[in-house]
Amino acid sequence: MNNGQSALEASIEKRRTFAIISHPDAGKTTLTEKLLLFGGAIRLAGSVKGRKTKKYATSDWMEIEKQRGISVTSSVMQFAYKEHLINILDTPGHQDFSEDTYRTLLAADSAVMLIDAAKGVEPQTIKLFEACRLQQIPVFTFINKLDRFGKEPLDLLEEIEQVLGMRSCPLNWPIGMGYDFRGIYDRRNNQIELFKGDDEREIIPAIGSWQENTEVREFLDNTQIKQLEEEIGLLDIAGDPFDQEKIDAGKLTPVFFGSAINNFGVQTFLDQFLQLAPPPQPHKSNQGYIDPAEQGFSGFIFKIQANMDPAHRDRIAFMRICSGQFQRGMIATHARQGKKIKLSQPQQFFAQSRDIIEEACAGDIVGIYDPGIFQIGDTVYEGKPLEYEELPQFSPEYFAKVFIKEAMKQKRFYKGLKQLAEEGAVQVYKSFLNGSEDIILGVVGELQFEVFQFRLLHEYGAEVILERLPHRLARWVRGEEIKTQELKSMNSLLAKDRFGQLVVLFKNETALNWVQSKNPTLNFVTTNREP
Ligand code: GDP
Repeated sequence: MNNGQSALEASIEKRRTFAIISHPDAGKTTLTEKLLLFGGAIRLAGSVKGRKTKKYATSDWMEIEKQRGISVTSSVMQFAYKEHLINILDTPGHQDFSEDTYRTLLAADSAVMLIDAAKGVEPQTIKLFEACRLQQIPVFTFINKLDRFGKEPLDLLEEIEQVLGMRSCPLNWPIGMGYDFRGIYDRRNNQIELFKGDDEREIIPAIGSWQENTEVREFLDNTQIKQLEEEIGLLDIAGDPFDQEKIDAGKLTPVFFGSAINNFGVQTFLDQFLQLAPPPQPHKSNQGYIDPAEQGFSGFIFKIQANMDPAHRDRIAFMRICSGQFQRGMIATHARQGKKIKLSQPQQFFAQSRDIIEEACAGDIVGIYDPGIFQIGDTVYEGKPLEYEELPQFSPEYFAKVFIKEAMKQKRFYKGLKQLAEEGAVQVYKSFLNGSEDIILGVVGELQFEVFQFRLLHEYGAEVILERLPHRLARWVRGEEIKTQELKSMNSLLAKDRFGQLVVLFKNETALNWVQSKNPTLNFVTTNREP
């Protein structure tokens, strides 16, 4: 092994690339901020916050986002902590929840599921968790806001199991909650971290038994000590044992308790997470799984952020580096187009101060300037040809028929439709068996409809009318003998996606279940990539 190779392997080994998944208000921003505080130099990719140098046209669709109070923040935050290099991928929530949020997970090696102790498992968490499950990436749970009264810890674990179908293994355990919150017991290290409020914490090391420690005895009353002993005993018998293999396979979630706003339990969580979470993993391609330490650079585009400058249709393509080393200015091959491209434009990597990085390696995310040549899922490589698997399309939640206002502008309309679909801004379906060939748009977040309409008008000069449909889910149909007529009950709508695959749009779960019960041999899957 040469030096370059072992240096590359060491760089990869120290990287952890993960996304935080949660429902709005669970404390993701707070937790992220605290995590960043532990880190050294911070690089933010895709941050557009500080870009005041250019004046945007008022027609910029980002205006919509501004008016709606949605922040276009960083897409990736990188920081160094101890011997690690951490990439946190942002998963947009609130109104800007979209298919991008799911796709971001495709670039992560693991996920941190953040749960509000008072609210438990909430809808957006469920959706994002399902997307993690499809990928079989490890999910780590952080139960937040223990400084407030919430659900009982055991009930929360039960909820994770019931609602998400995921077994859990608590690695620490809270002592009280709300006003009575006194700290956490670290099961792995058999130590207690006392919560003294105001960012103060004290770790009582595992010397002898913690029950005998004077500090602990002073801080906890007898009832609390007794309760903790009982609960620890219960967990030892009833809880799932720690099992790294199951964690790696996404079948068991390690659980941590804490309070992000008080920065309590966050560092303990980070330390253990870094030990347990996987470094950059191999990715599946048409040449088999590609090892991150392979010499040749390769990566795929998982997100395209458009209209940083609408006049030029500038876009930033976010690439997950899957193998090798990325260097500024390198020549690589655009796999789909079979063309050589130079990855040298100035907007390669957005930092807070718009620094440009010189190099990055497998596990990192880089934002490269896209003059309009990339589609979601495109592969870029150097050396041995390969192409990563196409990225899945996820089931949209909102649908609308789209019509063009002026027939004269059809050409522009179709061009815009095609490009926006390739960019992953909307999904496009064609209905059939309904007498007409309607074009149907599908989106995961409602705001995407407005963005679509706005961009089509301002970038392509085509005004469109959207007619909302009552359907709420799409299922791709799998099976030997598909009798399309039989799929048409309960107002379901039959369509083909842009790759020609059969999709059924349903109004609700009841309709889906009904059609499923009438067609027991068929499988209705939630993404177009599932077999
Ligand atoms: P996000 O929407 O998930 O990014 O959530 P934020 O980080 O913005 O937090 C939502 C609210 O919860 C804010 O008012 C935070 O101050 C609050 N919050 C976050 N963590 C904690 C915590 O540990 N305890 C309490 N009591 N509040 C918290």
